[in-house]
Amino acid sequence: MTRDPVVVVGGGTAGCMVTSYLANNTDLPIVLVEPGKVSSHDENSRFFDALGDVDLVRTVNGVLQARVLGGGSAINGMLLTGEEPTFARGLTRMAHEDDIGLMGRFLLSHGGRFSRLWWNGARWNPGRAVHHLEEEGRISIVRDEVESIQVTNNGCTAVTASHIRINASTLVLCAGALETPRILQQSHQLMHREEAMVQNHYSVNLVARLTAPSRAPFDTAVVREMQLPTGEMFMVNAYERASNIVRDHGLMTVSHMNPRDGRCDVRAMEKAKEILEEFANSLRMTEGIEEVVVSDEILPLSHVTASCAHLTDSDGRVHGVPSVWVADASVLRQVPTCTPAAPVTMEALRIARTIAGELS
Ligand SMILES: Cc1cc2nc3c(=O)[nH]c(=O)nc-3n(C[C@H](O)[C@H](O)[C@H](O)COP(=O)(O)OP(=O)(O)OC[C@H]3O[C@@H](n4cnc5c(N)ncnc54)[C@H](O)[C@@H]3O)c2cc1C
Repeated sequence: MTRDPVVVVGGGTAGCMVTSYLANNTDLPIVLVEPGKVSSHDENSRFFDALGDVDLVRTVNGVLQARVLGGGSAINGMLLTGEEPTFARGLTRMAHEDDIGLMGRFLLSHGGRFSRLWWNGARWNPGRAVHHLEEEGRISIVRDEVESIQVTNNGCTAVTASHIRINASTLVLCAGALETPRILQQSHQLMHREEAMVQNHYSVNLVARLTAPSRAPFDTAVVREMQLPTGEMFMVNAYERASNIVRDHGLMTVSHMNPRDGRCDVRAMEKAKEILEEFANSLRMTEGIEEVVVSDEILPLSHVTASCAHLTDSDGRVHGVPSVWVADASVLRQVPTCTPAAPVTMEALRIARTIAGELS
């Protein structure tokens, strides 16, 4: 009798790490279900170009999300502000003078520092390795969107996607912190709607009109971390462009990085606005800047996490549901105080090792 495969739902940052790890370290049959295509932007250092590719992104609950093999890592800003994971040595590098333009230089002269980037000649995109595994016939990828999962008493499971139902010996949910809880909610009430408490960072921003269009190779490479005596942590980011199309405007954002329970903290955002206003005043006096407009809006970042943490044990097993695991950003216990791709990746790798250990 052939063995049902391990089915990984979602080939994003976490799903590709899990798939690669299991394919390289076990002889289990693996099926990855991912609706997104392969990105053609890995060689392009300007991340707004990938973001501007409407096939690769979608907006869920007002938050921009990836819909591409490689997930957020195929389209994100490539900033790595926390610790560099050991597995990533050689795959990242520190930004430098040649990477930036006027906005980056402004922030550097106002307390900023160069960031580490998920870039070393090309973007680090875990989707590329998975694409090669598929080409070599070592895994299968089903281009579809999972709607729900089914769990039977004897521990067998299956996923129902838009066009196919797939039996699974083990299921690893990696559809991201907004979609994984939605799949669980649609699956025989494995999760109730009110249980999905997403954690996130929130930001305010300004737009600066430049006298000349940006020619900087990277859209963002300089950050400034600030901690107030009252405990709030903020990250300031400089962007050389406002979008893939708008090259003659730069952006600056101030994001609250340690919101309590990952919720928008209105008082902290007032302080973020004050910080932003100070930058705006200095920017207005900077050569090469024609006009600065500070927005009143508070926006959620694409750093959603923690929505399934209470449903899983520390190794990602869903409580009371044998053979079902979660390994994406939704299992982080709280939104990190740094950019999240590294913690998400490390957590996915740790869970993949545990799964491999249990199934071998
Ligand atoms: C625009 C943007 C900029 C960012 N900038 C940075 C940054 O500079 N630095 C940083 O560290 N982090 C950044 N992040 C955050 C980081 O990329 C994410 O935290 C990380 O990618 C989350 O990984 P994940 O595996 O949980 O989800 P994702 O990587 O989003 O993967 C989820 C995958 O599941 C697939 N999927 C969704 N629904 C289904 C379904 N029903 N069935 C099957 N598959 C499904 C999606 O297509 C996607 O490929 C950014 C994110 C975005 C979107």
